[in-house]
Amino acid sequence: MGNIIKVQKGTKDILPQEMGLWYTMEDNARRIFTNAGYGEIRTPIFEATELFARGVGDTTDIVNKEMYTFEKSERSLTLRPENTAGVVRAFIENGMHRLSAPVKLWYKGPMFRYERPQAGRQRQFHQVGVEMFGIKDATADAEVIELAVSYLKSLGLNDLEVEINSLGCPNCRENFKTELKKVLKPYFNDLCEDCQNRYEKNPLRLLDCKVDSCKAIFEKPDVKSVIYGDFICEDCAEHFNQLKSYLDALGIKYTVNKLLVRGLDYYNRTVFEIKSNNLGSQNAVCGGGRYDSLVRNLGGVDTPAIGFAMGMERLYSLLQKKEPEKLTAYVVSTNQTEALKTVKYLRDNNISTDFDFAGKKFTKQMEKASKIAKFAVILGEDEIANKTVSIKNLETSHQVTVPQAELLNNL
Ligand code: ATP
Ligand code: MG
Repeated sequence: MGNIIKVQKGTKDILPQEMGLWYTMEDNARRIFTNAGYGEIRTPIFEATELFARGVGDTTDIVNKEMYTFEKSERSLTLRPENTAGVVRAFIENGMHRLSAPVKLWYKGPMFRYERPQAGRQRQFHQVGVEMFGIKDATADAEVIELAVSYLKSLGLNDLEVEINSLGCPNCRENFKTELKKVLKPYFNDLCEDCQNRYEKNPLRLLDCKVDSCKAIFEKPDVKSVIYGDFICEDCAEHFNQLKSYLDALGIKYTVNKLLVRGLDYYNRTVFEIKSNNLGSQNAVCGGGRYDSLVRNLGGVDTPAIGFAMGMERLYSLLQKKEPEKLTAYVVSTNQTEALKTVKYLRDNNISTDFDFAGKKFTKQMEKASKIAKFAVILGEDEIANKTVSIKNLETSHQVTVPQAELLNNL
């Protein structure tokens, strides 16, 4: 054999045995987003480089360091590092602003970022996300956050923390930037290199820094009082308060994190992140926010918008750690014909079921049942003779014997 060509660093094959969880992630997305009136959109994997420079922002890590860019016929093209810019381009190009608001779209698919690969961080990874266009009210922000939480809950992920913040509008943000720069000036030389670069270009982004020495500076009393000061204008404060009251009404727990600014340049007002306590340092599963000026900046008709994106590989690793879902029933029988018939009957009635194909001893079958099912459906000699069935709840050990016609009612 010649040289073996290997998969590229930071990329992965997804193999058949992993597909079950991927189907679950994809099916739940389709069901939950469709149910809320979102239509799926699939945009191309590559776009004009300029789309991302303008649409993601040329002060971001994504655009500065992480893009896969190549030339073809003297055009600069880039593999999409995220999908919001592509969806906005499609929104504009297809005249979707003429549709009645809100226009709701969802997507899933691969994204590409040239990053240092590590757990939860790949060079080709997948995102699932939604974008809602045309509504500036906080009801839209509440729906989008609620949808993200519902989707995660549908996957059985509950140990989540929702963080929200308001970045204000371009007006109030200017004041904040000025104040922030002023208070950080004496500490400039202690900031990391990235932050020194961001200081002029995009001071808000400093707050996003994960370097400990920078984080320590944000804790200094004078800096802290600026970060935690109320800089946002009345309208933005009102919008943020509305959002909080809607989230309260929906029973969604959240914390306000004043350091949450998110990596992308285009956000205004609401930004949010959802973290899982079960992931290591790459613990953000979902990031989103409002981007009211992006459609206009990309040449479209002024349209407010909000959306989120979730990292599917990070969801995948959370799902893997979960206990596998138990079957509802495991048929335990000494008679294989009766077992086959009962398994078929239960499956026909949408009850997840299995049994022991090799017809092992009764006690072995019961052991297996208690490992993988919630109920043992027992068809011993007595039951078969009397046309009854015994049903043992394997969590409580409670057992009943009922006529076979009553089986479904007892599961
Ligand atoms: P991070 O701070 O972890 O780099 P980000 O702010 O760059 O995240 P977004 O651009 O908001 O992330 O993307 C949304 C989600 O996509 C993230 O919360 C994460 O779950 C996932 N994600 C981002 N980059 C990667 C990657 N390189 N590999 C796997 N998942 C990723
Ligand atoms: Mg990143």
